Amino acid sequence: MNRKIAVIKGDGIGPEIVTQALKVLDRVAERYGHTFYKTEVLMGGCSIDAYGEPLTQETLSVCEDSHAVLMGSIGGNTTTSPWYQLPSHLRPEAGLLSLRKNLGLFANLRPCVLYPQLRAACTLREDISSKGFDMLIMRELTGGLYFGERRTEAVDGVMTAVDTLKYDENEIRRIGIKAFEVAMKRRKKVTSVDKANVLDSSRLWRKVMNELAAEYPEVTLEHALVDSTAMQLVKDPAQFDVMVTENMFGDILSDEAAMVTGSIGMLPSASLAEGKFGLYEPSGGSAPDIAGKDLANPIAAILSAAMMLRYSFDMMEEADAVERAVAQVLDEGYRTGDIMSEGCTQVGCDRMGSLIAERI
Ligand code: NAD
Repeated sequence: MNRKIAVIKGDGIGPEIVTQALKVLDRVAERYGHTFYKTEVLMGGCSIDAYGEPLTQETLSVCEDSHAVLMGSIGGNTTTSPWYQLPSHLRPEAGLLSLRKNLGLFANLRPCVLYPQLRAACTLREDISSKGFDMLIMRELTGGLYFGERRTEAVDGVMTAVDTLKYDENEIRRIGIKAFEVAMKRRKKVTSVDKANVLDSSRLWRKVMNELAAEYPEVTLEHALVDSTAMQLVKDPAQFDVMVTENMFGDILSDEAAMVTGSIGMLPSASLAEGKFGLYEPSGGSAPDIAGKDLANPIAAILSAAMMLRYSFDMMEEADAVERAVAQVLDEGYRTGDIMSEGCTQVGCDRMGSLIAERI
């Protein structure tokens, strides 16, 4: 199969970790007889330095013309970098927001997996962490409170602020379909999270999810309230497979779930559009404190590439092979500094990438 990939290495550790993900993709191509056409483009701080703006039309066009985008991370030290002296629309993050909007990315997927080899990093009690967990949080990205009408004004002399949480049934349906489709590729369980005991938007959300469930009889759908879910995430995370929720609930729950794994350098993410197109990137940032020192953990970037194989290219076997290779390298005791523990062998970013690629 031939596939076109737009590659945005970005800033900070971005170039180091994406280089390792590309190494792994080259190995996949060789082993499985695929051709990946990769076009490198700039976005974020490096694009500001080269072109004076964080996202150029050329970068956008290359992304639009590709089957998927593989990204590192963008941005620098927000207190010392000159990029943050610029007006907000010219800063690195403005490029990412504009890219997401232009590419129509509406579903953010964050897998949160506790690798048995890294159980010691988990912040939960041992009797909970020993059960392990492997869940995927799907957050709606384009609607809800963050995009609804808002205003602050004096009402009868009292300052009053209003934010609006609005969803229409089509916005709910399109992310619901993604959740059910992703669940079909996993353990076939969807937990839809809302606040239907209080909010109208949640009652509509629940109604649409119930309608969709009828079209996916193999998938078990359960509904959960967001407050109770926040507790269940730390009490019994093993119960979750795919969790789908609106923008703000997802923002909060996905950070909570990431935290309990204890290792940011291990967490990939995907943002999906209609059809098969997606942008894949590690959940962490550009880590300017360790950039250029061969210290970064490339596993989040490598697992992001595995998600690209699975969700944009339908290459299930290849994605499994990458994930197995990561698990094998951890089993063999190799660790980057951020996940290092006693008795293991510490390796740099480049060597970790090579070890994983060699095991595919
Ligand atoms: P960060 O995620 O970059 O770093 C937080 C801590 O985690 C640091 O100690 C860092 O060294 C460590 N870390 C992160 N990824 C790691 C990896 N792969 N291996 C080893 N250690 C890793 O968050 P921050 O310091 O708050 O942000 C730095 C910059 O990244 C900021 O400019 C921020 O805006 C940007 N950022 C970008 C994205 C993105 O590109 N999507 C996301 C988050 C933050």
